Amino acid sequence: MDQQESSEVTWALETLAIRAGHRRTHEQEHGEPIFPTSSFVYGSAAEAAAKFGGEEPGNIYSRFTNPTVRTFEQRLAAMEGGERCVATSSGMAAILSTALALLSAGDEIVASRSLFGSTVSLFDKYLGKFGITTRYVELSDLAAWEAAMTPATRLLFAETPSNPLSEVVDIAALAEIAHRHDALLAIDNCFLTPALQKPISLGADLVIHSATKYLDGQGRAIGGAVVGRDRELEELFGVVRTCGPCLSPFNAWIFTKGLETLNLRMRAHCDNARILAEWLEAHPAVERVHYSGLASHPHHELAARQQQGFGAVLGFEVKGGRAAAWSVIDATRMLSITGNLGDVKTTITHPATTTHGRLSDEQKASSGITEGLIRVAVGLESLDDIRTDLARGLDALA
Ligand SMILES: *Cc1c(COP(=O)(O)O)cnc(C)c1O
Repeated sequence: MDQQESSEVTWALETLAIRAGHRRTHEQEHGEPIFPTSSFVYGSAAEAAAKFGGEEPGNIYSRFTNPTVRTFEQRLAAMEGGERCVATSSGMAAILSTALALLSAGDEIVASRSLFGSTVSLFDKYLGKFGITTRYVELSDLAAWEAAMTPATRLLFAETPSNPLSEVVDIAALAEIAHRHDALLAIDNCFLTPALQKPISLGADLVIHSATKYLDGQGRAIGGAVVGRDRELEELFGVVRTCGPCLSPFNAWIFTKGLETLNLRMRAHCDNARILAEWLEAHPAVERVHYSGLASHPHHELAARQQQGFGAVLGFEVKGGRAAAWSVIDATRMLSITGNLGDVKTTITHPATTTHGRLSDEQKASSGITEGLIRVAVGLESLDDIRTDLARGLDALA
């Protein structure tokens, strides 16, 4: 089922995840093949000239195109409902390539304050060197986004829901602000994936992925992707083709196979996370749980309207600050103590001293990263075992 076939019939997401983008070779293979080749050959000098000249479509060199990478790109584009996808060597390469493709010196970005740490460094330290300025606003405060817009604003950039407090922004309202100011809206859809949120259908122009997280889902490879319209993606393709942050065929194959089980995995992740969040909320040692799936979360209604699920990253605060939080983390025997997420293995981390350690005390206070805050990215182990592992430290505090 190639892209053309998939656009003629409206296939369900579950079907696209398993079949979109796969074009069988003359070997009639059932599964998606890997093409580990740097370059491609031609039947004649004239054919080579036509391919290099762009008169004939076809592969030239794997920095430009590769059939395995194309399968991943077409599958993800179909699932996100975008016209085109360009895969990259990492999630950060996807964000860098977007900036290189769409921004010039003097342009401005408006971004949410709660972004992946390396994204903030990319914007401030590296794009800043080339005269691109970024202003940061509170994710869910639409008036703040509006107030930060200037005639130089070209790009709005947000992650929703946020990490680790599960805050949500109204994507359709944000798209309206962006378009009224002639800017584009990019949503980093890492935490929900197209299985749970389709930003393009809500008006976003670009969707960014770290495929490293849930698209693979099993912690095997680093990769990324950008999905959007042909117009912007053609520019992005030019950046990747020329500058070289391309995805390897092996990693593209891993992500392609990862997409096949994405729907099932995301639903199972959400089920485990919801039950764990409810259990944590009732635990006497827990002061507060941040999970948009809980009715107590300030953005619960918006999340329920905008998303097809609440994801599996949640934060909770224990009484007793850093010492108490560390004691809960250190009492676990099964959970992985790591800053990573989007894995079948449940991970646990102390944001204030790891993922958000670069923030000043003031920034931590204003963004709700308290010393007692613990983040859990809920995996697919037995929920009973996850609970038992967390209870060991929590019960000692209660
Ligand atoms: C991990 C992550 C990235 C960066 O992706 P890499 O594949 O590690 O380069 C970007 N955004 C979010 C939300 C992430 O979690």
